[in-house]
Amino acid sequence: MVKALNMAIKLKTRAELDKMRSAGRVVHKVLTSLTEMARPGVTLRELDEAGYRIYSSMGARGLFKNYPTYKPGEGFPANLCLSLNDTVVHGIADGTVLREGDIIGIDCGVELDGWCGDSAVTLMIGRVTPEVRKLCEVTRHMLELAIQNIRPGVRWSRIARLMQSYAEQNGFSVVQDFVGHGIGRKMHEEPQVPNFVSAALLRNDFELKEGMVMAIEPMCNLGSHAVELLDDGWTVKTVDRRPAAHYEHTVAVTAQGALVLTDGN
Ligand code: MG
Ligand code: MG
Repeated sequence: MVKALNMAIKLKTRAELDKMRSAGRVVHKVLTSLTEMARPGVTLRELDEAGYRIYSSMGARGLFKNYPTYKPGEGFPANLCLSLNDTVVHGIADGTVLREGDIIGIDCGVELDGWCGDSAVTLMIGRVTPEVRKLCEVTRHMLELAIQNIRPGVRWSRIARLMQSYAEQNGFSVVQDFVGHGIGRKMHEEPQVPNFVSAALLRNDFELKEGMVMAIEPMCNLGSHAVELLDDGWTVKTVDRRPAAHYEHTVAVTAQGALVLTDGN
């Protein structure tokens, strides 16, 4: 039986994928520019403002600023999500200065000509400890594993299991409170795209089909998988305050396999 959830997944045409790639190029430009800019002494606010200038100059609109929360009138207050060290996701830029040994997640989502792109990287600032470097490399490889295994007919649970197993074999834990998502005309579309296997995923499992587009975004912690939301209503930190890494690409399913829309091509 086809689940109602799966029926809501919107498949994109080749022409629509081209439009999403244009949005993806803007996101890629922001992330590569900020990668060059991020060094000890730079503040998170400077990175956030630079990101805004770059995507605005390319004619795109940021998807995160004013993103609604449950409190009316209080949307997300920054342009990018900048998540330092023990912040997993949704960190808010402030005057904090980057220091040698930090890691910072930079997540950028934009809309261009009615289509969305969403991508994130975790940057290592100068020399980081070997275990933090490994955390970043393993989390990035989780995303690569997903991309390599995408093809029509594969069920998502198979890929989620590959990602989770790889992280856990390396001694890290996968964040289970947040998942990736379908993306298209809206930033968040069906389906939910988890990086781990759960009863909920097995109930809502879906088969990859040509034309599906997903923002795949593994989040991995050095310590426990447990995370908590701070009082600002956005910032998500690890409960044990050990570091976390996050990588994301917007990826289409094609007959030939995965087509990454946010890699700058
Ligand atoms: Mg994102
Ligand atoms: Mg996303």
